[in-house]
Amino acid sequence: MALREILRYPDKRLKEPGEPVLEVTGEIHALLEDMALTMYAAPGVGLAATQIGIPLRIFVLDLTSGEEPSDLRVFINPDVVEHRGQIVWEEGCLSFPGIREDIERAEWIKIRALDKDGKPFEMEGDGLFAVAVQHEMDHLDGVLLVDRVSLLRRRLIHRAMIKKNRSKELPEPAEAGAL
Ligand code: ZN
Repeated sequence: MALREILRYPDKRLKEPGEPVLEVTGEIHALLEDMALTMYAAPGVGLAATQIGIPLRIFVLDLTSGEEPSDLRVFINPDVVEHRGQIVWEEGCLSFPGIREDIERAEWIKIRALDKDGKPFEMEGDGLFAVAVQHEMDHLDGVLLVDRVSLLRRRLIHRAMIKKNRSKELPEPAEAGAL
């Protein structure tokens, strides 16, 4: 297992959409372990493969944010098959340390995906689950937090991130609940 580097905006690889996983192999299992390790170390509650520069449609979630017992969920080739309502949630992103933005999302979603054994499953929920899934699905399409805010906010975030990336200080720890 190895800790992977989480790409930070404006790294161009974050804009690259993920490709479907053709077969859940041992290599994919190793990647899933690295992704979970990297997410917990950040710490975050979700991480998409595209955030570590792997352009595959995979993300991991653990909404317990470090509490015991943990609840790691793996989503391979996910699709949102149903959604309802609207909710505004203040989201943080591991690729935008220190930034939080109000984003509008569907309030409830049903997702279909493959688990770590390549078996299809469905899961539904609202609140943080629905928000986190939609945030990670965005990552798999190369869509970032900055693509969901006003032009003014986008410019401000862009400038703030350029400044953060240039500073010689240690990277800030992730915001609680970052995705
Ligand atoms: Zn994110």
